[in-house]
Parts: sequence; C-alpha cells; structure tokens
Amino acid sequence: MLCWKPVGTESLERLAARIRHGALEAVSPTRCAGCERPGELVCPDCLERFNLIDPRHSCLRCGAPHGDLVCTECTPREESGAGAECELWAGGPDRCLAVAEFAEPLSRMIRAYKDAGEQRLFGPFAEMLLDCAQHAERVAGERYGDVLSATDAIVFVPATAAAFRRRGFDHMEAIARHLSELAGIPLVDVLVKLGDADQRVLGRMGRQARARDAYRVLERVDERRILLLDDVITTGATIVAATRTLRGAGAVHVDALALARVLQ
Ligand SMILES: [Zn+2]
Ligand SMILES: [Zn+2]
Repeated sequence: MLCWKPVGTESLERLAARIRHGALEAVSPTRCAGCERPGELVCPDCLERFNLIDPRHSCLRCGAPHGDLVCTECTPREESGAGAECELWAGGPDRCLAVAEFAEPLSRMIRAYKDAGEQRLFGPFAEMLLDCAQHAERVAGERYGDVLSATDAIVFVPATAAAFRRRGFDHMEAIARHLSELAGIPLVDVLVKLGDADQRVLGRMGRQARARDAYRVLERVDERRILLLDDVITTGATIVAATRTLRGAGAVHVDALALARVLQ
C-alpha cells in the first residue's frame, strides 16, 4: 500500500525545479562547454588541457606565465633590462594572477559563457578562481601570500552598457557573487564602466586609449584591500584603469585575479 506523505511548499518547489531540470536535460542534455561532450559543463579532459599558469614563475605585475625574472609581456622589448618601467602597467595592480593562458578549451568556454548563453558556467569559473588563488597561496606564499586571506572585498570589472544589453547579464558579476560566497569575502559592487564601446571591437591602441580612466566608483573604498576580478587580461589596459580608479577611491592594495591571460 502506498503511503502518501505530505510535503511542504519548499520541497514541492524543489521537486518542480527538479522536474523542470530533468525535462530540460532530456531535451537538451548538458554538454561540456569546451568539447561538446554530453555530461558535465566542464569535463575532466578539457580541464587537463588548460595551460595552467604556475604561480611560482608568473609575472607578479601582469600575470604572464614566465615573468618571474624579466617579463616580455609587460616590460618594453626595446628596454629588455629588468626593472624597465612600462607606462601601461604603471599604477596597475600590486599583484596579478590568472588561472591559465587564453587558449582552447578555456577560451571557448569563456565565449560560451559570455555570448552563447551557457550562463551556468559562472559556478565552475568561480571555483577555478578560488582554486587558483588558494593554490598560489599554498605553493608560492612568498609571492602570492594573503592574496585571498587578507582581502577585505571582492570587486569585479563591470560589463559595458552595450555588452550588458546584448547579453542580458553582467558575466563577471555572476562569477564574483559566487566566489564571494565560496570564499566568505564580501562582494562590493562599486565600479561603473563609462562609455558604450565593447572592448573587443576596438584595436589594441584604441582599447588602451578608451579604457584609460573609463571607470568610476559608486562609493569610496577607503583602507580596503581589494581582489579585482576580470575574465581575460589582454593588454592589461582594462585592469590597470580599474585599479587606478579603485586606488583613487581609497583602496590601499589591489590584487587582480583573472580566468585567462592572453599572450601577445
Ligand atoms: Zn570537454
Ligand atoms: Zn609581466
């Protein structure tokens, strides 16, 4: 004989959500955003293929993979001596860290997240950022010590108004909210992007010029140590402009953490 147990509203809602999820899975099963294989959003094979950046040898200034001695990414080539100041990176983050080089399959996953509607990737991406920072603290404590544990606030680089309209969501906000929950560090949503151009449609020079001072803050962040998140560091212009704005608003320390670093 069947025993019909009464269920509360909350569990009914959960049940309904599970049924909806199940129906959706039947019509359109979850596929890996890197290789389309059915199953998980990020499959173990694709994770294996990431060109992970080793925090023991990365460039502290720009996050490039092999810049612990002289960095060819942020040090002007004509002045290849160590310590040559690069105008672009002046006033940039105190330290920079990225999960992996911008290459397949991570680049494809980022595109799937931002422009192909796979918004559930905010979870795996937040976990990758957390794992990257914790790993750096563990294996390269003298370089990235406290990168997470001394942070007072997580701030993200916001999307342009045009990108927000096109995508219907702020891709970094979703990641930052989840990372904030995972790490137990408050999210402070203070940066606002000025201007309407999407960074990717501008050339390198235009991008540098456009990104400079293109942010403002909604409130001051006096005395805060900030972990600034972005998806991809390309020239560095965006992350440097956002960092300068945060410093101008009182931040005492800014570290940058990104999913990927483009090598020029
Ligand atoms: Zn895959
Ligand atoms: Zn560098």
